[in-house]
Amino acid sequence: MRLCYLKVVIPAARIIEIFSSIQGEGVYVGQWHLFVRFWDCNLSCHYCDTDYRGAYQELTREELLSRVEEKIGKEGPHQAVSLTGGEPLLWWKFLREFLPTLKALGQRVYLETNGTLPDALREVMPWVDTIAMDVKPPSATGGRPLWRSHEAFLRLGVEAKRDLFVKIVVTPETSTGELEGSFKLIAGVDSEIPVVLQPVTPCGAVSGAPEEFRMDEWRRLAGTLLRNVEVIPQVHRLLGVP
Ligand code: SF4
Repeated sequence: MRLCYLKVVIPAARIIEIFSSIQGEGVYVGQWHLFVRFWDCNLSCHYCDTDYRGAYQELTREELLSRVEEKIGKEGPHQAVSLTGGEPLLWWKFLREFLPTLKALGQRVYLETNGTLPDALREVMPWVDTIAMDVKPPSATGGRPLWRSHEAFLRLGVEAKRDLFVKIVVTPETSTGELEGSFKLIAGVDSEIPVVLQPVTPCGAVSGAPEEFRMDEWRRLAGTLLRNVEVIPQVHRLLGVP
């Protein structure tokens, strides 16, 4: 009798870095998170401060889990494991295998995403606790509007009753019209979704943040359509931590 061997392909992912730090953005700012940064992104925002195609290590599910456990052993308990990038959902096949093992450790899974890959989100939703989703107006990406994918993404998160908030990075190039469109889109899904307006941090190609009066105008405009609006800068940058 001939024996047939099935080749089991264990997916691996490209990981740029794994590090502990405070969460510097969004409504959970100040929490102690373990960040796992995935390689690559499907967008290229003009204010991007991440070398998302930089050096990486290719890690299997087991290898990444062991790195995470090692970090937690060394740095103590974290309030969440933050999947970041780049765009971590580009690795949804890997995440579908990895996240159940991470959840088995009792870790809260916090997904930082540009909110453009709803089909990928659907695949990993059962293991995600918090969705920190960016809405990217056209001035951010310089590309085609992403309204449809953003809306589908938001609806999935709300229907799955996930802890979800939206972050919009605003820059001197941001227009009131596109922000109004963003607020209407979010309100059309659920006006209770918390929304963070994050003034861009000047660095690299970005020479300045929006003027104060514009921030005030945008905050007021958001408040006419949404119930939970906050203005929060990148706190890790203010503190000079990663
Ligand atoms: S989505 Fe995020 S990681 Fe990707 S280019 Fe934009 S800012 Fe950078």
